[in-house]
Amino acid sequence: TVKGDVHDIGKNIVGVVLQCNNYEVFDLGVMAPAEKILEKAREVDADLIGLSGLITPSLDQMVHVASEMERTGMTQPLLIGGATTSRVHTAVKIEPRYSGATVHVLDASRCVTVAGKLLDHASRPAYTAAMREEYEGIRRQRAGPGKRAPLLALEAARANRLQLDWGRHEPVRPTFTGTRIFPSDGVARVAYGHASAASPGSAPSLPSYDLDELVSRIDWTPFFRAWELKGRFPDILSDPDVGPQATSLYEDARALLRRIRREGLLAAKGVIGLYPANASGDDIVIWDSEARDNPLAVLHCLRQQFAKSGDRPNLCLADFVAPECSGVADYAGAFVVTAGEGVAELCAEFEADGDDYQSILAKALADRLAEAFAERMHERVRREFWGYAPDESLSNSQLISEEYAGIRPAPGYPASPDHSEKETIFRLLDARAIGVSLTESCAMMPAASVSGIYIGHPGSFYFGVGRIDWDQLNDYAKRKGISVDDATRWLSPNLAGTPHG
Ligand code: SAH
Repeated sequence: TVKGDVHDIGKNIVGVVLQCNNYEVFDLGVMAPAEKILEKAREVDADLIGLSGLITPSLDQMVHVASEMERTGMTQPLLIGGATTSRVHTAVKIEPRYSGATVHVLDASRCVTVAGKLLDHASRPAYTAAMREEYEGIRRQRAGPGKRAPLLALEAARANRLQLDWGRHEPVRPTFTGTRIFPSDGVARVAYGHASAASPGSAPSLPSYDLDELVSRIDWTPFFRAWELKGRFPDILSDPDVGPQATSLYEDARALLRRIRREGLLAAKGVIGLYPANASGDDIVIWDSEARDNPLAVLHCLRQQFAKSGDRPNLCLADFVAPECSGVADYAGAFVVTAGEGVAELCAEFEADGDDYQSILAKALADRLAEAFAERMHERVRREFWGYAPDESLSNSQLISEEYAGIRPAPGYPASPDHSEKETIFRLLDARAIGVSLTESCAMMPAASVSGIYIGHPGSFYFGVGRIDWDQLNDYAKRKGISVDDATRWLSPNLAGTPHG
């Protein structure tokens, strides 16, 4: 997993799959700088190098590794994989930097076929030639005329903002403003227990948010996706194709979850904040008090610039918060939750036993618990803490399909694509207090963590900002007080521009 990134479930699955097929794998862990990867490849005379990453800043790191491989005269094939990687990105950004074979591998199940073709002397020339041809085609097509619709000027996009009727919406005042840490209010019931398991009776137990409460909020569908089993839970368990595999995986997961709860092997912690807030242009200003004269933080948002049809507005998250000039006392919130404490120790235990499967399972479960925690906390915010939906009563599947009022957009996702906004959220909430920090690419550590902001307006929804133009980039850099170079780095996926769907 490249520098700045901490996500390794996909990489670990690839490692296991390759090992099962008699490849010798040298796993360099997470946050691996280019030099470390190249040095190890030279040391062991590697036949192939594989790079993995989940978040968008990792894409630039992969370009960097490819450039370094070229510069140092390496010739091994380079395999690219991970959630935000794509054939198009590999073709357009990575392959041109490296004269050796460069191949995007869509998922772990294909890595054996790809590795086999690249290492077989008979098939390699034709395979790499076909790959080059395909990537060249993608580049030609992307450079061709008429592919990019022109963008609106930022001012025109702003003029076409979403205008909610603030005269008819009276925001509910939260039951508290400022931050609250969990557990801290008597909900801690599960002891954190590596220490207690080793020395029963003398447990210096760290508290956790009630894991049982989180287990009931797990969304299992993405769990199976992490293992490349496609299908919706619970139907997937009886699927004619993958049902038996899914069922045994699910049983193993439930068993490990029981052990985690019984022995208190993972701790869930969270911090939420609720604040007076108003929109100011495309920003959301978080005030330190109801006087609304001293900003505690500013959340910088981006606005869609692509031409809209009909009367559809050019959206920005700030449109969902009452502007200062409306005189409406609005509110917004933020959160960071984690279920990652204890994961490293648990995985080390499994790995010491040579049990890579249980180690990956533990990480996948911790991810699920973190997402469940985000879901549960959001529910409690709506019902209790902000309290704008005290009577809400939704089943888990209704929560998963977001049948509630308000959203919790996460930095790095389509409505708020700048990962570095997490720095503002982490500062605002002092997320160090729950043991979560950010890497230089703004990946959250431990990996099983979720963060975002709360927007309460019943008319709010998720959207994608899509491609933005240089006028907005410059404006954004200025508003945020960062250099245009830095802004370009954080927003490169939006500047490079994926076509708008
Ligand atoms: N049930 C899922 C929840 C996570 S995915 C799970 O357990 O994995 C949904 C979350 O992703 C949302 O709650 C929000 O935080 C984020 N998200 C989804 N679409 C988004 C968008 N367009 N912009 C910003 N955040 C988004």
